[in-house]
Formats: sequence, structure tokens, C-alpha cells
Amino acid sequence: MPECLFCRIVSGGVPASRVLESPQTVSFRDINPQAPTHVLVIPKDHYPDLGALASGNGGLLAEVMAQAHQVAVAEGISSSGYRVVLNTGTDAGQAVQHVHAHVLGGRKLGWPPG
Ligand code: AMP
Ligand code: ZN
Repeated sequence: MPECLFCRIVSGGVPASRVLESPQTVSFRDINPQAPTHVLVIPKDHYPDLGALASGNGGLLAEVMAQAHQVAVAEGISSSGYRVVLNTGTDAGQAVQHVHAHVLGGRKLGWPPG
């Protein structure tokens, strides 16, 4: 069994509330939502962070971003607006070392982030 939490979500070993799935990605609700819509989009293959994904498989990075938009469409927030965030590294507070895009929306989002 893989150690990575999000790899275990991909394999079904850890339950998640799935919103969308594509051949190369899974999208599921964040367990600690920060907005009415808070969904994580991940590649099924393990890449630790944005740099690894960008240099390893740019096409898959594009697929993650395209799925983020499809999540917004499915959640009914593509017109009202939404934010896509990829926390990368210590200063950004990346807690799970399997690259993931947060899709946030359903309320007015503050800027800049704290
Ligand atoms: P980050 O700080 O960008 O690494 O974000 C990690 C996110 O994963 C946080 O928003 C957590 O709430 C979320 N998270 C952690 N464990 C789970 C889980 N089992 N299912 C869904 N979301 C999770
Ligand atoms: Zn992983």
C-alpha cells in the first residue's frame, strides 16, 4: 500500500468525496473546506509538487488545470468566479506532498491571501 495519502485516495484505500474523474486525474472535496466549493484536483500519478509535474509532464499539468475549470462548471461557479491555488513548498504551507490544485469559490474570495 503506498504511503502517500493522495495516492491512497486514487487507489480507493482512503475514502474521498469524488466530484469528477478523468483518465489521468481525480477531483474530490477538501476535508477542511475554506469556501462553499473547495475541491482538490490531483493527477493519478504521484508528483510531489508543481515543479516536478511541470518538468515531468507538462501535458498532465494542463489536464489538471483543465479539470479545475470543469470542477468549477460542475459546481456552478464558473460564471460567478473561482480561484485555483497550488501551494508549493514550505512558505506556501504545502502539507501534502502530492501535487494538488485547490478550486475555491461560492463566496467572495479575499485578496491578497494572508
Ligand atoms: P496544502 O496545504 O496545499 O498541501 O493542502 C492540503 C489540503 O488537503 C488541505 O486543504 C487539507 O484540508 C486537505 N486534506 C488533507 N487530508 C485530506 C483528505 N483525506 N481528504 C480530503 N482532503 C484532505
Ligand atoms: Zn502520491
